Amino acid sequence: MARVFSGMQPTGVLHIGNYLGALKHFIPYQEKDECFFCVVDLHALTIPGDPEVLRRKSIELAALYIAAGVDPNKATLFLQSNNSAHAEAAWLMQCVAKFGELGRMTQFKDKGQDSESVTTGLFTYPVLMAVDILLYKTDEVPVGEDQKQHLELARDLAERFNRQYKEIFTIPEPRIPDTGARIMGLDNPEKKMSKSASTPANYVTLLEDEKSILKKFKRAVTDSDTEIRFDPEQKAGISNLLSIMSVVTGRSIPILVKEYQGKGYGHLKVDTAEAVIETLRPIQQRYHQLMQSGEIEDILAQGAVKAREATHETLGKMKDAMGLVSF
Ligand code: ATP
Ligand code: MG
Repeated sequence: MARVFSGMQPTGVLHIGNYLGALKHFIPYQEKDECFFCVVDLHALTIPGDPEVLRRKSIELAALYIAAGVDPNKATLFLQSNNSAHAEAAWLMQCVAKFGELGRMTQFKDKGQDSESVTTGLFTYPVLMAVDILLYKTDEVPVGEDQKQHLELARDLAERFNRQYKEIFTIPEPRIPDTGARIMGLDNPEKKMSKSASTPANYVTLLEDEKSILKKFKRAVTDSDTEIRFDPEQKAGISNLLSIMSVVTGRSIPILVKEYQGKGYGHLKVDTAEAVIETLRPIQQRYHQLMQSGEIEDILAQGAVKAREATHETLGKMKDAMGLVSF
């Protein structure tokens, strides 16, 4: 039985990129492996916002995990801040990580352009992410493509700690899907779809209504050509639609390309929108039921206990190995 860990930030509402690149792939693991799925609320603090909004979004995100198929009887679902081991281990690991290697993280370069106004939390967040994973002795981490570099860092830090202090950490493996690992923005297919994008035209959320989904797909930016071909370099917009369609329908990209040959972009856009609407419908229904039932608080309280139990020993070993005395 492998240990599986993954997390999502409670910023904004999850979009189809988060679902197709990550969340959807969590579900099969819970049938055979020991899974920890986390609402990474501490990460959401890196870009300061309204505390009331964060409180609400954290609960909503937990409900979305379950609505998408995470079963709290099979997997541990919890809020990151409810297990203080994460924040404590992050400090310890910050004293192992190097300033230079954090400066090379491309996400920081993208999000943290203006270094005067950016928080230091945004800079050190990959270290927190590393211990999120390492504290659970994780073997496999299902994530989207944008997290590949952060996973590399987690592996490097685990190896360095093991060498420098004591062999404590398992070296985790990223699990990145072949299709859908990098869903691009509908308004700009050169950049990834993102919760924190500056315009809602960029993404389709998991809770979006049918009319709005159809409108956004119809307006999706594509090239001015007419040929349907999978070519993310030259035809980023069309390739993005094909990827989305492929993951939601389970049909391969070559088959879709053949089917839409000569039909024009309009058809592909509308059919992709409809396939997305069908996929989201049951998720939205379960989400609204859950939010009304009020079950989510109990689930998260139980998850917090299990998460704390799972990491207690590793954090203790980490402190001891570094020379901290415990009374
Ligand atoms: P933010 O802009 O707040 O960072 P985000 O959209 O990048 O939001 P995260 O919470 O950082 O979302 O990431 C959650 C998971 O979703 C990660 O595994 C990440 O790799 C994956 N993911 C994020 N964006 C995409 C995308 N466009 N396509 C596929 N997977 C994605
Ligand atoms: Mg992100």
